[in-house]
Amino acid sequence: MNSDHILDVRHLKQYFHINKNLTIKAIDDVSFQIGKGEIFGLVGETGSGKSTIARTIMGIYPPTDGEVHFKGNMISDKKIFHQNKKEIQRNIQIIFQDSAAALNPRMTVEKIIAEPLKINHILSGKRELKKEVDSLLLQVGLDSSFKSKYPDEISGGQRQRVAIARCIGMNPDLIIADEPIASLDISIQAQIVTLFQTLQKQHGFTFLFIAHDLSIIRFISDKVGVMLHGKMMEMAPTKELFENSLHPYTKALLSAVPVPDPIYERNKKILTFDVDSVQKDGHLIEVSPGHFVYQ
Ligand code: ADP
Repeated sequence: MNSDHILDVRHLKQYFHINKNLTIKAIDDVSFQIGKGEIFGLVGETGSGKSTIARTIMGIYPPTDGEVHFKGNMISDKKIFHQNKKEIQRNIQIIFQDSAAALNPRMTVEKIIAEPLKINHILSGKRELKKEVDSLLLQVGLDSSFKSKYPDEISGGQRQRVAIARCIGMNPDLIIADEPIASLDISIQAQIVTLFQTLQKQHGFTFLFIAHDLSIIRFISDKVGVMLHGKMMEMAPTKELFENSLHPYTKALLSAVPVPDPIYERNKKILTFDVDSVQKDGHLIEVSPGHFVYQ
């Protein structure tokens, strides 16, 4: 494994056995790596297996098969996971669609951000904690007057900023952002995506950024993986994927992205893709350096 890889997912499978006649292959032989300081965008329609990948990396479900290596440790191994559980949970932080809604309504913003810093013994002194909370709030674009507010006294976008402050306070090696803007107003979405990008630039955070919206993925990611029915259909550096997509599913997805040009929009041709045409036993093949296509 390249030692610069923070995350290395190898031939990961997650099958849910619903009953004796039905098994859902939520992840079906998926491999990808994320280098330090990289933003890897995982895109795909609802039900393609993106969140299951996030949950499996975090150890919520043991994988059916395959491996997850985090900073060189095979954390998909039950024993290794349990031996390093605290460290893994501190170093892999997740921000999800409902992070904002999950903030404790009885805690002030100050307490919400300070709590994990105390629990993880990152800081303990009252003065140090206050200073750190101020600094974290500033980094997510909120001033210190927010400290005394309760979650229901602030807007959805501000709550998501608080959730982000709480997450970056842990100084994690990997941030998994699972549809982190999907429940926000359109006008707020761009601000939060820009905040992620700024934080990445300032601190060199590594991201697994999950979204179903290709334009957001294009804007934020260094590399992109396109998922369909638990399989990775195509994976490439962002520019390459958007300018030289090869898999017909990626082409169909790209053809449906709205372009802010009414004449183009009126005349454009949206491609269709027959999902049943996907080969069951295909593999990702590297067709040019770093560009993989399922065939
Ligand atoms: P996405 O995040 O791309 O929308 P998910 O990872 O949530 O997709 O789901 C992938 C598939 O796995 C879906 O068919 C979903 O219904 C199924 N699935 C996810 N979690 C479970 C579970 N705990 N039990 C059974 N099926 C599940």
